[in-house]
Amino acid sequence: MRIVTHISELRHLIRQTKAQSQTIGFVPTMGALHAGHLSLIQEAKDKSDRVIASIFVNPEQFGPGEDYDRYPRQAEKDAEMLRAAGTDILFLPAKEEIYPQPPRVKVLPGPVANVLCGKTRPGHFSGVGLVVAKLLNLVSPDFLFLGQKDLQQTVIIRQLIEDLNFPVELVVCPTIREADGLAMSSRNRYLTPEERQTALILNHTLQHLKTLAQPGATVQSLLEEGHQYFKNAPGLQTDYLEIVNGTTLETLEVILPEENPVIAIAGFVGKTRLIDNTFVF
Ligand code: AMP
Repeated sequence: MRIVTHISELRHLIRQTKAQSQTIGFVPTMGALHAGHLSLIQEAKDKSDRVIASIFVNPEQFGPGEDYDRYPRQAEKDAEMLRAAGTDILFLPAKEEIYPQPPRVKVLPGPVANVLCGKTRPGHFSGVGLVVAKLLNLVSPDFLFLGQKDLQQTVIIRQLIEDLNFPVELVVCPTIREADGLAMSSRNRYLTPEERQTALILNHTLQHLKTLAQPGATVQSLLEEGHQYFKNAPGLQTDYLEIVNGTTLETLEVILPEENPVIAIAGFVGKTRLIDNTFVF
């Protein structure tokens, strides 16, 4: 595996790969890798000739008071994991390589950025859109692999790709979970053992509601049931519990398979913000 820190070298390697008519699968990450990230690498390996991963903790997508400074950074360990998983190139740029000056151009996603996580994280998806647009231009992959766990991110990036005509196919990969159902996340390492236990309520609530979400069920009744369900988890401060159309993120009133309903939840356990979601069907 080649570790590349400079754009010029990355571009050189990409040109070589393209000259050999090899397809490129790209997995962007912020590091602190876990089996969820590695599942994206595996999917990329299955689908493409060459796999490029990036590790970049993107300052543009963190709001004031969020965890940019304390976000876990472990480049050597991550590189080892990526190497063992069969990655061909790791792009590991410094902040100055990606942002040699404060960005003058913004990426402004549409209304889908204002719901769910966008309500409490203003500007977050604009920052995500900017860095993904830059990375897609730098890597010019044939396939982009993103995790379903960040549902809203997948919807916004799909719109970015379509509206700006990036010649890349988006592949959304399933959420990988710990044995007890907790969605894997780099932020799980912030949790104390007690908080780790409390965090299980997110997935438990999703699974509970999923069993009740039969076609024709009203969303309001399901959400009331959900709020009752996690009332008994005192360590959880819910941000939202919503049932939305998984393609448009529009809120739903009734569960109908053709609306592709997804139950999405976010909340703080202690100081750690966690998200999770599940498709109903
Ligand atoms: P991050 O490093 O958190 O920015 O995540 C990088 C990519 O990994 C994103 O596309 C995430 O959606 C994906 N990802 C994060 N956690 C998981 C998980 N538990 N299962 C599958 N993919 C994940």
